[in-house]
Amino acid sequence: MRDSGSDTGSDPFVETEDQQALRGLARQVAARDLAPNARHWDETEEFPEASWGALRAADLFGITIGEAYGGMGLGDVESAIVLEELARVDVSSAILAQLIFNGPPRAIEHLGSEGLRSRWLPMAASGEALFCIGISETEAGSAVNHMRSRLVADGDGFRLEGYKNYVTGGHKAAACLVWCRFPESVGTRGIGAVVVDLTRDGVSVAGTHDKMGLRGTSEAELAFDGVRVDASDVLLTGDPSNSEAFKTLIAHINHERCGNAAMCLGAAAGSLEYATRYMNERTVGDGTLAGFQGLQWKIADMTTRLEGARLLLGRAVRLAGVGGTPPALETAIAKTAANEAARFVCDEAIQLLGGYGYSREYPVERAYRDIRGLLIGAGTVEIQKNFIGTQVLRGATTTSPGWMANP
Ligand SMILES: Cc1cc2nc3c(=O)[nH]c(=O)nc-3n(C[C@H](O)[C@H](O)[C@H](O)COP(=O)(O)OP(=O)(O)OC[C@H]3O[C@@H](n4cnc5c(N)ncnc54)[C@H](O)[C@@H]3O)c2cc1C
Repeated sequence: MRDSGSDTGSDPFVETEDQQALRGLARQVAARDLAPNARHWDETEEFPEASWGALRAADLFGITIGEAYGGMGLGDVESAIVLEELARVDVSSAILAQLIFNGPPRAIEHLGSEGLRSRWLPMAASGEALFCIGISETEAGSAVNHMRSRLVADGDGFRLEGYKNYVTGGHKAAACLVWCRFPESVGTRGIGAVVVDLTRDGVSVAGTHDKMGLRGTSEAELAFDGVRVDASDVLLTGDPSNSEAFKTLIAHINHERCGNAAMCLGAAAGSLEYATRYMNERTVGDGTLAGFQGLQWKIADMTTRLEGARLLLGRAVRLAGVGGTPPALETAIAKTAANEAARFVCDEAIQLLGGYGYSREYPVERAYRDIRGLLIGAGTVEIQKNFIGTQVLRGATTTSPGWMANP
């Protein structure tokens, strides 16, 4: 396999041989190791340890991490391929890969010091440790600029005082990338980020949220009570005179948004495939469900929305290129399209299965509950639309050749 970012190839509609091989591997692991336990994680809310072990055994955790740290150095295209395949059978398990591919390890590699990289990236690439990201707080979700978590100067380092909620995997992770205020920070000025070793004194898991879906991977509430943060733990220093660090962090979330979109596409594809099989098998009178034109149109609409979103995501991840970050406008469009396609497709899949679709014994019901959370995480659909709308009104354009700026 290539070792320097995504192979974007010459034809945007065709995957390279390496990408096809990676998709094949992820599909095999998903079918053999993830699918059989997916319902179990959902019903019991147990952390998907067996999925973790399977992804680790297949060496899939390291795909986006640089070779120097034990990974394969691939990019957003390959991340999207693997996440889509894993989410086709179980979004809770796919989230584990998302946290490694597009969470703190990616930020550490792109934005961090060599000290941070050599300390944490080998553990991420080998699947030795999980990582989590702490941005949201009780009164600072979409309005992230209202965050309260802050650093207080302490000798040559800091002490962290704060509380983060909805931290995916926070109860199992080795380290958390915490967005916080540096001394004298106001508004978005002075917001930066630190990597906190979660075994440090003063860190506690205050609880986990009870959720509708994604029940294998809990979202934790993390409290930081005077936690020591060394100067070497700083990922990006927040300078109280400007918002540069904050803007860099926000832009970097585009990796996570593309991963979120890929998981939506995967779950939607899995539901569409299941519904298609079901319609061909389910007899009603003398025929099958597949014979009803009204239901054929549902399949057509589901396919059209899914394929449209897949093309938009393909554009965003390919534009990231080698070692880059997916561009903001294309990413927001792709996430919105994938989130809404998944909501539509997974909902229609339930309808096509009739009463069985509503039963927890069939996977389409779980997929619907799982993707519902993805319309909220990594920036809600509404916040993506705020961004798209304001950008377009200001004259921003995408790379689409047909786009006419300021019509
Ligand atoms: C499954 C899941 C996983 C998550 N994982 C993490 C994680 O690992 N780390 C982390 O830090 N956070 C995580 N989050 C939190 C997530 O980022 C926030 O829930 C999200 O940003 C929304 O914030 P909020 O819940 O406070 O809702 P609010 O910001 O209060 O929003 C409530 C509603 O109002 C809308 N709204 C808010 N402001 C505007 C506006 N200006 N214009 C239009 N509509 C608006 C929102 O779209 C939403 O519909 C996760 C959330 C979920 C559901």
